[in-house]
Amino acid sequence: MASYDLVIIGTGPGGYVCAIRAAQLGLKVAVVEKNPTLGGTCLNVGCMPSKALLHASELFEEAGHSFAKMGIGVSAPKLDMAAMMNFKQQGIDGNVKGVEYLMKKNKIDVLAGKGKIVGTGKLEVTGQDGKTQSVEAKSIVIATGSDIARLKGIEIDEKRIVSSTGALSLDKVPGKLIVVGAGVIGLELGSVWRRLGAQVTVVEFLDRILPGMDGEICKQFQRILEKQGFAFKLGAKVTAIDSSGKQLKVSVEAAAGGNPETLEADVVLVAIGRVPYTEGLGLKEAGVALDERGRVVIDDHFATSLKGVYAIGDVVKGPMLAHKAEDEGVAVAEIIAGKAGHVNYDVIPGVVYTTPEVSSVGKTEEDLKNAGVDYTVGKFPFTANGRSKVNQTTDGFVKILADTKTDRVLGVHIIGREAGEMIHEAAVLMEFGGSAEDLARTCHAHPTRSEAIKEAALAVGKRAIHM
Ligand SMILES: Cc1cc2nc3c(=O)[nH]c(=O)nc-3n(C[C@H](O)[C@H](O)[C@H](O)COP(=O)(O)OP(=O)(O)OC[C@H]3O[C@@H](n4cnc5c(N)ncnc54)[C@H](O)[C@@H]3O)c2cc1C
Repeated sequence: MASYDLVIIGTGPGGYVCAIRAAQLGLKVAVVEKNPTLGGTCLNVGCMPSKALLHASELFEEAGHSFAKMGIGVSAPKLDMAAMMNFKQQGIDGNVKGVEYLMKKNKIDVLAGKGKIVGTGKLEVTGQDGKTQSVEAKSIVIATGSDIARLKGIEIDEKRIVSSTGALSLDKVPGKLIVVGAGVIGLELGSVWRRLGAQVTVVEFLDRILPGMDGEICKQFQRILEKQGFAFKLGAKVTAIDSSGKQLKVSVEAAAGGNPETLEADVVLVAIGRVPYTEGLGLKEAGVALDERGRVVIDDHFATSLKGVYAIGDVVKGPMLAHKAEDEGVAVAEIIAGKAGHVNYDVIPGVVYTTPEVSSVGKTEEDLKNAGVDYTVGKFPFTANGRSKVNQTTDGFVKILADTKTDRVLGVHIIGREAGEMIHEAAVLMEFGGSAEDLARTCHAHPTRSEAIKEAALAVGKRAIHM
């Protein structure tokens, strides 16, 4: 029987990163993966393919709308959907092969098949051919990720009624696209198809978009998306979809009930969130506890209720983000190897990869109000940032929330081009417990959009220079 120090079930960003770190620390490691390719949701049907389509569709829109004003004359861009999907697939293949290479480089065995825990230190792996192999491991990490959340009574066929997976592979641009859910995935994929020509309506149960993100940032973001052509129906829910005719008939009513109306659509994207995935793992029989939302329960050291079994990533509590899964993978590998692994959950950035981008780290204004923390706001708009002005990309602003007494930065929120890259100087500052004054006194290269962060930090002390 094959025997390892550590076996990880799942090769998403949590699992494969955990495997590499454990191998670096000298452990004999194997990963188990049921899919034909490594990399999990993120590489195959999540972060990476969505970013490929966001990049391609953004350039498609720019070529059609922005080039002329810069004096670049091009004829109207033509969409070659097959080529765009091929571009996306090449990106997926490159990344997936990269993970395969890293497994080989770090001498990590890949066990192809579905993993099941049969007790402390014992697993079974069942391959596509139905053959089962038994494996022993001193430690096991569950990194089985998440699956799409479904709407009751609505069947996803991945053709006309799609999840994010189907929305990444449509073969033509839908005339009318209804997105159910104004979260990150719905707005990103809605952006892709709007840029390529779809008329997009977003139906959201809550009365705001991007729940959990800073309210002021989201209000401005919604206005910008509306200017781009998005329509929003907030405080509303989809109750049924009639797919018998050529067009889908989508029943929408107020979140509290009443005021029903029927909207027509060519495609409906259900993007109401994701749920932890533990199917077939044998957790109940093995004695691994789940919480009321189906997540694997862990302690502060990622240990489950079964000795020697740990869990990380989307399958446990916390934000369902690839970098959170990766950091937990590193931390649990270090703990298993006898070191002090740790994740700082107060400093996990979040990014919406639309145009403009939205990024945030730390507390929102709503969080601080609810917690009764005395805070000071420093804001700086990109309309006053030189680089943004010359590039004519002035939508958005930087907002810094600092503790009024200590000046420590508690949260940073940015809406604007490249906000997803810019957020990390704030994350580093916050990781070191830095103040707005520290940020304001750090020399920033000119002309950059990052100068808006320095100016927002200056604005905390009411001394922004360019405003
Ligand atoms: C459209 C979309 C876009 C996204 N964009 C972003 C983004 O831009 N940034 C970001 O941070 N996050 C993004 N996410 C979220 C991100 O993909 C997840 O947070 C991340 O993949 C979680 O990693 P994980 O390792 O926990 O699990 P996963 O990536 O879900 O991997 C789990 C793996 O476990 C395997 N598995 C499950 N059960 C078994 C079993 N019993 N035996 C063997 N193998 C098993 C699965 O096949 C899978 O490969 C996006 C998600 C989607 C759907």
